[in-house]
Amino acid sequence: MKLFQLFSLLFFLFLSVNAHSANSINGVRVWPAPDKTRVVFDAKSQLEYSYFTLSKPQRLVIDFKDSGNALTLKNVAKNDKRILKIRTSKPKNKSTTRVVLELAKKYQTTVFPLTPSGQYGHRLVVDFKDSATQTPIKPIKSSTDSVATKRDVIIGIDAGHGGEDPGSIGPKGTYEKKVTLLIAKKLEKLINAEKGMSAVMIRTGDYYVGLDRRTELARKKRVDFLVSIHADAFRTPQPNGASVWVVSNKRAESELSRWLDNRQRNSELLGGGGDVIKRTDDDNLALTLADMSREHSLDVSIGVSKKVLSQLKRITKLHKKQTQYKSLAVLKSSDIPSILVETGFISNHQEERNLTSSKHQVKLAKALHSGIKQYFIEHPLSGSYFAAKSNSSVNSIHIVKSGESLSLLAKRYNVSIKQLKTSNKLKSNVVRIGQKLTIPRA
Ligand SMILES: [Zn+2]
Repeated sequence: MKLFQLFSLLFFLFLSVNAHSANSINGVRVWPAPDKTRVVFDAKSQLEYSYFTLSKPQRLVIDFKDSGNALTLKNVAKNDKRILKIRTSKPKNKSTTRVVLELAKKYQTTVFPLTPSGQYGHRLVVDFKDSATQTPIKPIKSSTDSVATKRDVIIGIDAGHGGEDPGSIGPKGTYEKKVTLLIAKKLEKLINAEKGMSAVMIRTGDYYVGLDRRTELARKKRVDFLVSIHADAFRTPQPNGASVWVVSNKRAESELSRWLDNRQRNSELLGGGGDVIKRTDDDNLALTLADMSREHSLDVSIGVSKKVLSQLKRITKLHKKQTQYKSLAVLKSSDIPSILVETGFISNHQEERNLTSSKHQVKLAKALHSGIKQYFIEHPLSGSYFAAKSNSSVNSIHIVKSGESLSLLAKRYNVSIKQLKTSNKLKSNVVRIGQKLTIPRA
């Protein structure tokens, strides 16, 4: 090695691991999502930064003060359509690292720092968001209100975590966010292949969707039911099995009302702890004023959760045999019925293996699909394909009211009097009030 080469090598080493800098940029990640791209810079310690934009061509320039740069920026953004290139440039102040993001066009840009959490240290986050009008909502397969086309039951599939948020991490290093997306995609396929159902994916790749955005998307796409897919974790490797969760509001409400019913007695037990009870009373008032639609949506959520549990227990151990109740942010959209499925414990060695197996993922997706489908076949939504199908294939029951005759009922249900008589084993044309009649399908 020539002296010159040695010097330049030392010089570059000095540049990349700038020993005099207080801080250092030592990681960068790019997360492209359908509506935005998130770029995350990792720093050794708390960041001091400033930024500005330039146009023609569109650029965002970030100055990391008193920072060395230990990054290779080449190819970092090669899979993203919004960022053409990320490079460094020379600032006036030599202790500053200047990063330039070359952009395809102008985006709504947000820059904010994040303090350490989980596996991550100090970060700077940059979001490039498309303007609102640029994200059209895809039309949903055969979902119209016209009489001719019976609408699909629309199932929102929410793969937990994503992007910067890996979720739980298994002992072998499996990321929950990867497993949830793989199961979600398999479920999407099954649902879209089912006549009468269609799927809407809340996220389709490795990026983070905020909890508010998840419910917003579900609402926008007129989702009838939302299933959120997760994997559990515990600090010890033993716990295992799947569980299904619904919102706890109803549960909290009923427990509270039970508590209030017994408050006379409880008050005595507490030795006159009146303050606590008074406060509970206020809570109850708040809960009573809560949205009424929640009750219906909770009924559906619980109904589906039971169907899903009975399917899951055929293919995996259950951590909890009954529906679990909890207040979960992702399920808080009280007007959309929803469940959260913990598909297994990623912290358990065997289940981590299962969760990464494509075969097992298919089994899980099939269990979710059949559970949800069964519920909506048994409780068809009005106007849906399942409703139309159940009307034509299942005999319905009519209870005779005053003034109704066999001929009138035959006309109303579009069947012959003879058909009515046969299916009810009637010897005469006389029916009495309150009599249960089986109406054969037309
Ligand atoms: Zn999770």
